[in-house]
Amino acid sequence: MRPLLGEEEAAAVAEVVRSGWVAQGPRVAEFEKAFAASVGAAHGVAVSSCTTGLHLCLHLLGVGPGDEVVVPSFSFIATANAVRYCDATPVFADVLRGSGNLDPASVAAVLTPRTKAVMAVHQGGQPCDVDGVRAVCGDVPVIEDAACAAGSQLRGRPVGTGALLAAWSFHPRKLLTTGEGGMVTTDDAEWAARLRRLREHGMSVSAADRHASGKVVLESYAETAFNYRMTDLQAAMGLVQLGRLPGMVARRRELVARYRELLAPLDVRPVADPPFGTSNHQSFWVELPDGAPAVADVLAALAAAGVSGRRGIMAAHREPAYAGHPHAPLPVTEHLTARTLILPVHHELTEADQRRVVDALADALLLTPATGAP
Ligand SMILES: *Cc1c(COP(=O)(O)O)cnc(C)c1O
Repeated sequence: MRPLLGEEEAAAVAEVVRSGWVAQGPRVAEFEKAFAASVGAAHGVAVSSCTTGLHLCLHLLGVGPGDEVVVPSFSFIATANAVRYCDATPVFADVLRGSGNLDPASVAAVLTPRTKAVMAVHQGGQPCDVDGVRAVCGDVPVIEDAACAAGSQLRGRPVGTGALLAAWSFHPRKLLTTGEGGMVTTDDAEWAARLRRLREHGMSVSAADRHASGKVVLESYAETAFNYRMTDLQAAMGLVQLGRLPGMVARRRELVARYRELLAPLDVRPVADPPFGTSNHQSFWVELPDGAPAVADVLAALAAAGVSGRRGIMAAHREPAYAGHPHAPLPVTEHLTARTLILPVHHELTEADQRRVVDALADALLLTPATGAP
Protein backbone atom coordinates (compact mmCIF):
# COMPACT_ATOMS: atom_id res chain seq x y z
CA MET A 1 0.00 0.00 0.00
CA ARG A 2 1.14 3.52 -0.79
CA PRO A 3 -1.04 6.58 -0.09
CA LEU A 4 -1.92 8.91 -2.97
CA LEU A 5 -0.73 12.34 -1.82
CA GLY A 6 0.09 15.49 -3.78
CA GLU A 7 1.02 19.13 -3.51
CA GLU A 8 -2.64 19.98 -2.81
CA GLU A 9 -2.49 18.18 0.55
CA ALA A 10 0.79 19.91 1.41
CA ALA A 11 -0.67 23.32 0.53
CA ALA A 12 -3.88 22.69 2.50
CA VAL A 13 -1.92 21.73 5.62
CA ALA A 14 0.44 24.71 5.20
CA GLU A 15 -2.56 27.03 5.07
CA VAL A 16 -3.81 25.67 8.40
CA VAL A 17 -0.38 26.23 9.93
CA ARG A 18 -0.42 29.84 8.73
CA SER A 19 -3.94 30.34 10.09
CA GLY A 20 -2.70 29.77 13.64
CA TRP A 21 -5.62 27.46 14.48
CA VAL A 22 -4.24 23.93 14.29
CA ALA A 23 -6.45 21.96 16.72
CA GLN A 24 -10.07 20.91 16.10
CA GLY A 25 -11.78 23.86 14.45
CA PRO A 26 -13.43 25.07 11.23
CA ARG A 27 -11.69 22.55 8.92
CA VAL A 28 -12.82 19.66 11.08
CA ALA A 29 -16.41 20.97 10.89
CA GLU A 30 -16.15 21.31 7.12
CA PHE A 31 -14.61 17.85 6.69
CA GLU A 32 -17.34 16.30 8.86
CA LYS A 33 -20.08 17.77 6.68
CA ALA A 34 -18.42 16.80 3.41
CA PHE A 35 -17.53 13.27 4.51
CA ALA A 36 -20.96 12.55 6.01
CA ALA A 37 -22.62 13.75 2.78
CA SER A 38 -20.35 11.52 0.71
CA VAL A 39 -21.45 8.40 2.61
CA GLY A 40 -25.11 9.39 2.77
CA ALA A 41 -25.23 10.16 6.50
CA ALA A 42 -26.80 13.19 8.17
CA HIS A 43 -23.98 13.78 10.69
CA GLY A 44 -20.25 13.19 10.89
CA VAL A 45 -18.22 13.42 14.09
CA ALA A 46 -14.47 13.45 13.45
CA VAL A 47 -12.29 11.51 15.89
CA SER A 48 -8.64 10.57 16.27
CA SER A 49 -9.01 7.09 14.69
CA CYS A 50 -11.54 4.45 13.78
CA THR A 51 -10.58 2.62 16.97
CA THR A 52 -11.52 5.57 19.17
CA GLY A 53 -14.66 6.02 17.03
CA LEU A 54 -15.73 2.42 17.72
CA HIS A 55 -15.07 2.96 21.43
CA LEU A 56 -17.29 6.07 21.42
CA CYS A 57 -20.09 4.22 19.59
CA LEU A 58 -20.10 1.47 22.23
CA HIS A 59 -19.86 3.99 25.08
CA LEU A 60 -22.76 5.93 23.55
CA LEU A 61 -24.88 2.77 23.53
CA GLY A 62 -24.08 2.25 27.21
CA VAL A 63 -21.99 -0.90 26.72
CA GLY A 64 -20.28 -1.75 30.00
CA PRO A 65 -19.12 -4.52 32.33
CA GLY A 66 -21.07 -7.76 31.94
CA ASP A 67 -22.28 -6.85 28.45
CA GLU A 68 -21.45 -8.82 25.32
CA VAL A 69 -20.76 -7.40 21.86
CA VAL A 70 -20.68 -9.74 18.88
CA VAL A 71 -17.75 -9.09 16.52
CA PRO A 72 -15.99 -11.06 13.81
CA SER A 73 -12.64 -12.44 14.95
CA PHE A 74 -11.68 -12.13 11.26
CA SER A 75 -10.80 -8.44 11.47
CA PHE A 76 -8.07 -6.07 12.51
CA ILE A 77 -7.73 -6.52 16.28
CA ALA A 78 -9.04 -2.99 17.02
CA THR A 79 -12.61 -4.21 16.35
CA ALA A 80 -12.49 -6.58 19.33
CA ASN A 81 -10.30 -4.33 21.47
CA ALA A 82 -12.89 -1.52 21.36
CA VAL A 83 -15.27 -3.85 23.22
CA ARG A 84 -12.67 -4.50 25.89
CA TYR A 85 -12.15 -0.74 26.34
CA CYS A 86 -15.71 -0.75 27.75
CA ASP A 87 -14.89 -3.66 30.07
CA ALA A 88 -17.38 -5.68 28.04
CA THR A 89 -16.83 -9.08 26.42
CA PRO A 90 -16.22 -9.49 22.69
CA VAL A 91 -18.10 -12.56 21.43
CA PHE A 92 -16.64 -13.89 18.21
CA ALA A 93 -18.88 -14.90 15.31
CA ASP A 94 -17.75 -16.56 12.10
CA VAL A 95 -17.64 -15.07 8.59
CA LEU A 96 -18.66 -16.08 5.08
CA ARG A 97 -15.97 -17.63 2.93
CA GLY A 98 -16.60 -15.46 -0.13
CA SER A 99 -16.51 -12.01 1.45
CA GLY A 100 -14.87 -12.48 4.85
CA ASN A 101 -17.85 -10.62 6.35
CA LEU A 102 -20.12 -11.68 9.23
CA ASP A 103 -22.23 -14.78 8.66
CA PRO A 104 -25.73 -13.89 9.95
CA ALA A 105 -26.35 -17.51 11.00
CA SER A 106 -23.18 -17.47 13.09
CA VAL A 107 -24.27 -14.17 14.69
CA ALA A 108 -27.70 -15.60 15.52
CA ALA A 109 -26.03 -18.59 17.20
CA VAL A 110 -24.08 -16.46 19.71
CA LEU A 111 -26.70 -13.85 20.66
CA THR A 112 -27.64 -13.96 24.36
CA PRO A 113 -29.75 -11.75 26.65
CA ARG A 114 -26.46 -9.96 27.50
CA THR A 115 -25.74 -9.00 23.86
CA LYS A 116 -25.70 -5.19 23.85
CA ALA A 117 -24.54 -4.64 20.24
CA VAL A 118 -23.26 -6.36 17.12
CA MET A 119 -20.38 -4.94 15.13
CA ALA A 120 -20.49 -5.63 11.40
CA VAL A 121 -17.19 -5.04 9.60
CA HIS A 122 -16.92 -4.18 5.90
CA GLN A 123 -13.70 -6.17 5.66
CA GLY A 124 -11.07 -4.87 3.29
CA GLY A 125 -13.74 -2.68 1.69
CA GLN A 126 -15.97 -5.66 0.85
CA PRO A 127 -19.51 -4.45 1.61
CA CYS A 128 -21.09 -6.46 4.42
CA ASP A 129 -24.74 -7.41 4.02
CA VAL A 130 -25.77 -5.27 6.99
CA ASP A 131 -29.47 -5.91 6.27
CA GLY A 132 -28.85 -9.65 6.52
CA VAL A 133 -27.07 -9.17 9.86
CA ARG A 134 -29.80 -6.85 11.19
CA ALA A 135 -32.44 -9.40 10.23
CA VAL A 136 -31.16 -11.84 12.88
CA CYS A 137 -30.46 -9.20 15.56
CA GLY A 138 -33.98 -8.14 16.57
CA ASP A 139 -33.66 -5.06 18.80
CA VAL A 140 -29.91 -5.40 19.24
CA PRO A 141 -28.19 -2.40 17.58
CA VAL A 142 -25.80 -3.12 14.69
CA ILE A 143 -22.76 -0.83 14.56
CA GLU A 144 -20.68 -0.76 11.37
CA ASP A 145 -16.89 -0.92 11.41
CA ALA A 146 -16.47 0.81 8.07
CA ALA A 147 -12.75 1.48 8.64
CA CYS A 148 -11.83 0.23 5.15
CA ALA A 149 -15.02 1.04 3.28
CA ALA A 150 -15.08 4.71 2.19
CA GLY A 151 -16.19 4.52 -1.45
CA SER A 152 -17.67 1.00 -1.32
CA GLN A 153 -21.28 0.52 -2.39
CA LEU A 154 -24.10 -1.50 -0.83
CA ARG A 155 -27.33 -2.02 -2.77
CA GLY A 156 -26.58 0.92 -5.05
CA ARG A 157 -25.80 3.38 -2.23
CA PRO A 158 -22.57 4.29 -0.48
CA VAL A 159 -21.68 2.08 2.49
CA GLY A 160 -22.74 4.13 5.52
CA THR A 161 -26.11 5.21 4.08
CA GLY A 162 -28.78 4.26 6.60
CA ALA A 163 -26.18 3.07 9.13
CA LEU A 164 -27.23 3.39 12.77
CA LEU A 165 -23.61 4.24 13.64
CA ALA A 166 -20.60 3.70 11.36
CA ALA A 167 -16.94 4.25 12.23
CA TRP A 168 -14.36 5.08 9.55
CA SER A 169 -10.57 5.12 9.44
CA PHE A 170 -8.26 7.56 7.70
CA HIS A 171 -5.07 5.64 8.46
CA PRO A 172 -2.75 5.51 5.40
CA ARG A 173 -3.49 1.79 5.02
CA LYS A 174 -7.00 2.82 3.88
CA LEU A 175 -7.81 4.77 0.69
CA LEU A 176 -8.58 8.25 2.08
CA THR A 177 -5.95 9.28 4.61
CA THR A 178 -5.32 12.08 7.09
CA GLY A 179 -2.19 10.43 8.55
CA GLU A 180 -4.22 9.15 11.48
CA GLY A 181 -7.87 9.96 11.98
CA GLY A 182 -11.39 8.68 11.92
CA MET A 183 -15.07 9.61 11.82
CA VAL A 184 -18.34 8.39 13.23
CA THR A 185 -21.41 8.90 11.05
CA THR A 186 -25.06 8.64 12.06
CA ASP A 187 -28.46 10.03 11.10
CA ASP A 188 -29.35 10.71 14.74
CA ALA A 189 -28.81 14.37 15.69
CA GLU A 190 -28.86 13.73 19.46
CA TRP A 191 -26.33 10.95 19.20
CA ALA A 192 -24.10 13.19 17.04
CA ALA A 193 -24.29 15.94 19.65
CA ARG A 194 -23.40 13.54 22.46
CA LEU A 195 -20.54 12.04 20.40
CA ARG A 196 -19.16 15.57 19.91
CA ARG A 197 -19.09 16.05 23.67
CA LEU A 198 -17.69 12.58 24.34
CA ARG A 199 -14.72 13.13 22.03
CA GLU A 200 -13.91 16.45 23.72
CA HIS A 201 -13.65 15.79 27.47
CA GLY A 202 -17.43 15.99 27.89
CA MET A 203 -17.35 19.77 27.31
CA SER A 204 -20.79 21.35 26.98
CA VAL A 205 -19.50 23.89 24.40
CA SER A 206 -16.51 23.07 22.21
CA ALA A 207 -13.34 25.16 22.39
CA ALA A 208 -13.83 26.14 18.73
CA ASP A 209 -17.41 27.30 19.35
CA ARG A 210 -16.42 29.31 22.40
CA HIS A 211 -13.69 30.99 20.39
CA ALA A 212 -16.03 31.68 17.46
CA SER A 213 -18.76 33.17 19.68
CA GLY A 214 -16.64 36.21 20.54
CA LYS A 215 -18.23 36.24 24.00
CA VAL A 216 -17.29 34.80 27.33
CA VAL A 217 -18.79 31.30 27.39
CA LEU A 218 -18.26 29.14 30.46
CA GLU A 219 -18.33 25.47 29.57
CA SER A 220 -19.29 22.68 31.93
CA TYR A 221 -18.43 18.98 32.11
CA ALA A 222 -21.43 16.78 32.81
CA GLU A 223 -19.68 13.41 32.45
CA THR A 224 -16.23 11.82 32.32
CA ALA A 225 -15.26 11.64 28.66
CA PHE A 226 -12.26 11.43 26.34
CA ASN A 227 -9.87 13.39 24.19
CA TYR A 228 -10.45 11.74 20.81
CA ARG A 229 -10.28 14.89 18.70
CA MET A 230 -9.02 15.29 15.14
CA THR A 231 -6.91 18.34 14.29
CA ASP A 232 -7.59 20.96 11.61
CA LEU A 233 -4.25 19.92 10.05
CA GLN A 234 -5.68 16.46 9.46
CA ALA A 235 -9.10 17.69 8.34
CA ALA A 236 -7.55 20.04 5.74
CA MET A 237 -5.78 17.04 4.29
CA GLY A 238 -8.96 14.97 4.49
CA LEU A 239 -10.91 17.52 2.45
CA VAL A 240 -8.39 17.24 -0.39
CA GLN A 241 -8.34 13.45 -0.10
CA LEU A 242 -12.13 13.27 -0.19
CA GLY A 243 -12.02 14.98 -3.58
CA ARG A 244 -9.64 12.28 -4.79
CA LEU A 245 -11.69 9.38 -3.44
CA PRO A 246 -13.88 8.62 -6.50
CA GLY A 247 -10.78 8.52 -8.70
CA MET A 248 -8.94 6.34 -6.19
CA VAL A 249 -11.81 3.84 -6.08
CA ALA A 250 -12.11 3.74 -9.89
CA ARG A 251 -8.37 3.08 -10.15
CA ARG A 252 -8.50 0.30 -7.54
CA ARG A 253 -11.32 -1.38 -9.41
CA GLU A 254 -9.41 -1.16 -12.68
CA LEU A 255 -6.31 -2.68 -11.04
CA VAL A 256 -8.31 -5.49 -9.49
CA ALA A 257 -10.07 -6.27 -12.79
CA ARG A 258 -6.64 -6.68 -14.38
CA TYR A 259 -5.43 -8.83 -11.47
CA ARG A 260 -8.43 -11.08 -12.04
CA GLU A 261 -7.51 -11.57 -15.71
CA LEU A 262 -3.86 -12.20 -14.90
CA LEU A 263 -4.72 -14.60 -12.07
CA ALA A 264 -7.27 -16.60 -14.09
CA PRO A 265 -4.79 -19.31 -15.16
CA LEU A 266 -3.64 -19.80 -11.53
CA ASP A 267 -5.34 -22.11 -9.07
CA VAL A 268 -6.27 -19.34 -6.57
CA ARG A 269 -9.60 -17.79 -5.60
CA PRO A 270 -9.52 -13.96 -5.59
CA VAL A 271 -11.99 -12.14 -3.33
CA ALA A 272 -14.93 -10.98 -5.46
CA ASP A 273 -17.75 -8.43 -5.17
CA PRO A 274 -20.94 -9.84 -3.62
CA PRO A 275 -24.12 -9.69 -5.75
CA PHE A 276 -25.44 -6.78 -3.63
CA GLY A 277 -22.49 -4.37 -3.73
CA THR A 278 -19.09 -3.27 -4.93
CA SER A 279 -15.81 -3.04 -3.04
CA ASN A 280 -13.38 -0.12 -3.08
CA HIS A 281 -10.68 -2.83 -2.92
CA GLN A 282 -8.90 -1.36 0.05
CA SER A 283 -7.41 -4.86 0.29
CA PHE A 284 -7.31 -7.50 -2.44
CA TRP A 285 -6.75 -11.03 -1.21
CA VAL A 286 -6.50 -14.44 -2.82
CA GLU A 287 -7.27 -17.79 -1.24
CA LEU A 288 -4.75 -20.55 -1.92
CA PRO A 289 -6.04 -24.01 -2.83
CA ASP A 290 -5.59 -27.13 -0.70
CA GLY A 291 -2.17 -28.59 -1.38
CA ALA A 292 -0.57 -25.21 -2.07
CA PRO A 293 2.43 -24.18 0.01
CA ALA A 294 1.98 -22.42 3.35
CA VAL A 295 1.14 -18.71 3.13
CA ALA A 296 4.33 -17.81 5.02
CA ASP A 297 6.42 -19.66 2.42
CA VAL A 298 4.57 -18.00 -0.45
CA LEU A 299 5.08 -14.57 1.15
CA ALA A 300 8.78 -15.31 1.64
CA ALA A 301 9.10 -16.28 -2.04
CA LEU A 302 7.25 -13.10 -3.07
CA ALA A 303 9.54 -11.00 -0.86
CA ALA A 304 12.60 -12.67 -2.44
CA ALA A 305 11.20 -11.62 -5.83
CA GLY A 306 10.81 -8.03 -4.59
CA VAL A 307 7.03 -8.27 -4.15
CA SER A 308 5.48 -7.05 -0.91
CA GLY A 309 2.54 -9.34 -0.07
CA ARG A 310 0.94 -9.65 3.37
CA ARG A 311 -0.79 -12.41 5.26
CA GLY A 312 -4.56 -12.36 4.92
CA ILE A 313 -6.84 -10.67 7.41
CA MET A 314 -5.88 -11.64 10.95
CA ALA A 315 -8.02 -13.64 13.36
CA ALA A 316 -8.13 -11.81 16.70
CA HIS A 317 -8.89 -15.00 18.67
CA ARG A 318 -5.53 -16.48 17.58
CA GLU A 319 -3.51 -13.61 19.05
CA PRO A 320 -1.93 -13.81 22.52
CA ALA A 321 -4.10 -10.88 23.66
CA TYR A 322 -7.12 -13.21 23.33
CA ALA A 323 -5.47 -16.42 24.58
CA GLY A 324 -7.98 -18.36 26.67
CA HIS A 325 -10.87 -16.14 25.56
CA PRO A 326 -13.80 -18.54 25.09
CA HIS A 327 -15.45 -18.66 21.66
CA ALA A 328 -17.61 -20.89 19.48
CA PRO A 329 -15.86 -22.80 16.67
CA LEU A 330 -14.74 -20.40 13.89
CA PRO A 331 -13.90 -22.75 11.00
CA VAL A 332 -14.24 -20.25 8.15
CA THR A 333 -12.22 -17.60 9.99
CA GLU A 334 -9.46 -20.12 10.68
CA HIS A 335 -9.46 -21.32 7.09
CA LEU A 336 -9.37 -17.83 5.56
CA THR A 337 -6.75 -16.44 7.91
CA ALA A 338 -4.47 -19.43 7.23
CA ARG A 339 -5.03 -19.68 3.49
CA THR A 340 -5.31 -16.11 2.18
CA LEU A 341 -2.73 -13.50 1.32
CA ILE A 342 -3.02 -9.86 0.32
CA LEU A 343 -1.44 -8.67 -2.93
CA PRO A 344 -0.16 -5.11 -3.45
CA VAL A 345 -2.72 -2.57 -4.72
CA HIS A 346 -2.12 1.14 -4.81
CA HIS A 347 -2.96 3.96 -7.19
CA GLU A 348 0.36 4.02 -9.00
CA LEU A 349 0.75 0.29 -9.56
CA THR A 350 1.52 -0.33 -13.28
CA GLU A 351 0.51 -3.22 -15.51
CA ALA A 352 4.16 -4.31 -15.52
CA ASP A 353 4.12 -4.32 -11.68
CA GLN A 354 1.00 -6.45 -11.69
CA ARG A 355 2.54 -8.93 -14.14
CA ARG A 356 5.58 -9.20 -11.88
CA VAL A 357 3.35 -9.84 -8.86
CA VAL A 358 1.38 -12.55 -10.62
CA ASP A 359 4.50 -14.19 -12.11
CA ALA A 360 6.10 -14.24 -8.66
CA LEU A 361 2.94 -15.75 -7.20
CA ALA A 362 2.81 -18.40 -9.94
CA ASP A 363 6.44 -19.34 -9.19
CA ALA A 364 5.80 -19.41 -5.45
CA LEU A 365 2.86 -21.78 -5.87
CA LEU A 366 5.26 -24.30 -7.45
CA LEU A 367 7.11 -24.61 -4.14
CA THR A 368 6.48 -27.96 -2.51
CA PRO A 369 4.05 -27.74 0.40
CA ALA A 370 6.16 -29.81 2.80
CA THR A 371 9.49 -27.95 2.82
CA GLY A 372 8.80 -24.67 1.08
CA ALA A 373 11.87 -25.38 -1.09
CA PRO A 374 11.63 -25.26 -4.90
C1 LIG B 1 -7.79 -0.22 10.13
C2 LIG B 1 -8.90 -0.82 10.82
C3 LIG B 1 -9.30 -0.38 12.08
C4 LIG B 1 -8.52 0.63 12.88
O1 LIG B 1 -8.50 1.88 12.29
P1 LIG B 1 -7.61 3.03 12.99
O2 LIG B 1 -8.07 4.28 12.32
O3 LIG B 1 -6.19 2.70 12.66
O4 LIG B 1 -7.89 3.00 14.42
C5 LIG B 1 -10.44 -0.94 12.64
N1 LIG B 1 -11.13 -1.90 12.01
C6 LIG B 1 -10.77 -2.36 10.79
C7 LIG B 1 -11.59 -3.40 10.12
C8 LIG B 1 -9.63 -1.85 10.17
O5 LIG B 1 -9.26 -2.33 8.98
